[in-house]
Amino acid sequence: MAYLDNGNQIFKDARKNHYAVGAYNTNNLEWTRAILRAAEETRTPVLIQVSTGAAKYMGGYKIVKDIVEDTMDSMNISVPVVLNLDHGDFESAKECIALGYSSVMFDGHALPTDENLAKTKEIIKLAHERGISVEAEIGKIGENQGADGGELASVEDAKTFVAAGVDKLACGIGNIHGVYPEGWKGLNFDRLKEIADAVPVPLVLHGGSGIPEDQVKKAISLGISKVNINTEFQLAFQGATRKYFEAHKDEDKANKGYDPRKLLLPGTEAITDAMKEMIGWLGTPSIDEELKNAAFDRSSLNEE
Ligand SMILES: [Zn+2]
Repeated sequence: MAYLDNGNQIFKDARKNHYAVGAYNTNNLEWTRAILRAAEETRTPVLIQVSTGAAKYMGGYKIVKDIVEDTMDSMNISVPVVLNLDHGDFESAKECIALGYSSVMFDGHALPTDENLAKTKEIIKLAHERGISVEAEIGKIGENQGADGGELASVEDAKTFVAAGVDKLACGIGNIHGVYPEGWKGLNFDRLKEIADAVPVPLVLHGGSGIPEDQVKKAISLGISKVNINTEFQLAFQGATRKYFEAHKDEDKANKGYDPRKLLLPGTEAITDAMKEMIGWLGTPSIDEELKNAAFDRSSLNEE
């Protein structure tokens, strides 16, 4: 029976040891399988998340959880898996807590700060009673629009939200959801460092697709422990699927190229490949490596 990890220890370890764990958005069964396969083949922990829109597309939050858990079972997944609601509003966060998601993000960034904080506290109470992890968002992550990228998170807000008990904090630091526009100014490392110096919790980088590798690595060195990847996989899926059609493989009747299992395969495999590359960027260690380190720590303790 599949077990969902709340990720608290996973992301604490990531922050402490200066690597990140990817948070990968699922859209359907193929996406779920592709993500779990990359995690299992690299033996790395993984966070699968679903946006409110993708959950609606898939038929609701319960179906998403069922698909993730049943796929973990059918694929014999042995690495830790966190299931997170991405950018939840108050109602969807409560629903996912009741359903047994192991992690929820409550995104109250559009609310006045006082109201965002009050609602975040309510979500924290409900979630923590059940051992569920909570991510909050401060500042504003850009939406495909200006090259400036949203609104910078303030250090004061970071301190306030962490004091309220959030387990992970998403900060607007010039990052953008979707494809980064020409002339984007890049991440604001000064603000990231100020926030990381002020609060000990794992920090989250939304809009991780399309940020240059050197900036992702620098952000991780400064305290980013969770990097959200969505657009990257959509583009990987689109590119591989386009090639399939451009080669007219769908018209190959002798090989049943029209079979959806064949149509969707190149795109699905492209997601797994893209994720493996991303795991390398993020420096996510395999759980075997982690276990070895833990065993080493214990044996050196015994010697003393
Ligand atoms: Zn986001």
